[in-house]
Amino acid sequence: MADAPQAPVVEEVKNCPVCKKPLKKARRFYRNGAYYCNNNCFKKAQATAKAAASEASASAEQSKEGK
Ligand SMILES: [Zn+2]
Repeated sequence: MADAPQAPVVEEVKNCPVCKKPLKKARRFYRNGAYYCNNNCFKKAQATAKAAASEASASAEQSKEGK
């Protein structure tokens, strides 16, 4: 297999972290250091992050709950 060079595939196109759609240069939506496909996905990501953060702090306070 001398004809198969292990060329690293450089993916310029990033995918939306929320809906996994590929982001096109013209349509990506930049917010808070990350790209999303639209404002809706950004809000979704924000809500998820917020929920995770509050859940983390809540579980830190109620560590005897065990979950
Ligand atoms: Zn999206």
